[in-house]
Amino acid sequence: MQNIKGIIKNLGVQCLEQEIREYALEIGFDDVGFTTADPFPQLTEALEERKEGYSWISNGLLQLAHVADPKFVLPAARSIVVLIYDYYKQGYPQEFEGRIGKSYQSRLYYGKNRLFGNRLRLFRDYLESKGMEVGVRPAMAERQAAARAGLGYFGCNTFIYSPGRGSYIGIVAMAVSGELEPTTAKIERTCLDDCSRCVDACPTGALYAPYKMDPFRCIAFNSYGAGNFPGAPEDILPEIRPKMKGWIYGCDHCQDACPHNQARLKQKLVPDAFLHEIVPKFDLPILLNMDDRYFFETVQQLMYGYIWEKKFIQRNAAIALGNSGDEAAIGPLSKALQDQQELVRRYSAWALGRIGGKKGKAALEKTLAGERESAVADEIKAALENC
Ligand code: SF4
Ligand code: SF4
Repeated sequence: MQNIKGIIKNLGVQCLEQEIREYALEIGFDDVGFTTADPFPQLTEALEERKEGYSWISNGLLQLAHVADPKFVLPAARSIVVLIYDYYKQGYPQEFEGRIGKSYQSRLYYGKNRLFGNRLRLFRDYLESKGMEVGVRPAMAERQAAARAGLGYFGCNTFIYSPGRGSYIGIVAMAVSGELEPTTAKIERTCLDDCSRCVDACPTGALYAPYKMDPFRCIAFNSYGAGNFPGAPEDILPEIRPKMKGWIYGCDHCQDACPHNQARLKQKLVPDAFLHEIVPKFDLPILLNMDDRYFFETVQQLMYGYIWEKKFIQRNAAIALGNSGDEAAIGPLSKALQDQQELVRRYSAWALGRIGGKKGKAALEKTLAGERESAVADEIKAALENC
């Protein structure tokens, strides 16, 4: 027998789910789905199994179990509304290729006075106007919710693939108190047979098996998490640093290698004017020696709320300059050996050791005599051995 919603639909009367969907598309989202507010037991199991690598979640605002239970964000939750936003609508500057991940360039900020944040606020207000309570982050299993709502499938690289869009998508899941008809999980498509391109493309072995990723080896995670997130390693492992090459924020290798993303990567799109304008401001020597004002006014605009201290971007810029092997970086790195932050001095020493040569050696020797922090002095001595 047809349920009441089916009968209403056949009579041409819009149901609430349809209204929600139309509103979301109207304000700029690209797909919408619904699922129940039941927990995600598979996520709990996976996080428990690898809890060492995810201790930074437990040590932060969240508990592992909470991430998998929508009722943590909203005790009255009965459904989850999932929104998909395609962030590959404008062209990304070539200069940021291999340097800043596309998702960070796309500025999917939740904050006030941000386009994406305002869009979310509008949508949340809309749901509340329909009489529903709404709960969002910090703890929502967004990828799992998207898969259960039938909006996409997991690739072996752990990203969700939206049909026709690939994995360059932002996902937002909102727990709501209303009972909404779940969208059917109709997407069966999984990874191509025998494909391991994402695993093969990962430079650090962080993606060590299909669907398994070690965040502590991941370039993206290290670029914003190391030393910054509670529970994450204080330092970027020495063997990971050379593999970061020019990345200073994020990493796209495991997505860019995927056959399902190739059509998107070949699109001819209108350039993102904002990004093209800020390219010269993200020059590595400038980032390495920037002041607080420059960081907050210029650089923080792309930091997605993950990085609030400039020293982490300075550290990443030092690594990238060291990896460039370019002697022109010796001047800026020598200057950074005098930075107030011990972290910046240490990584600048590492970078000078990586570039090596007479000039790099001279800069390191000159600084060693006056360096009072033993951790920095040790890094300088280690760098001198490489020169
Ligand atoms: S983001 Fe980069 S480092 Fe991290 S798993 Fe993907 S390819 Fe590996
Ligand atoms: S690269 Fe291959 S294995 Fe990896 S997500 Fe894409 S289709 Fe799946």
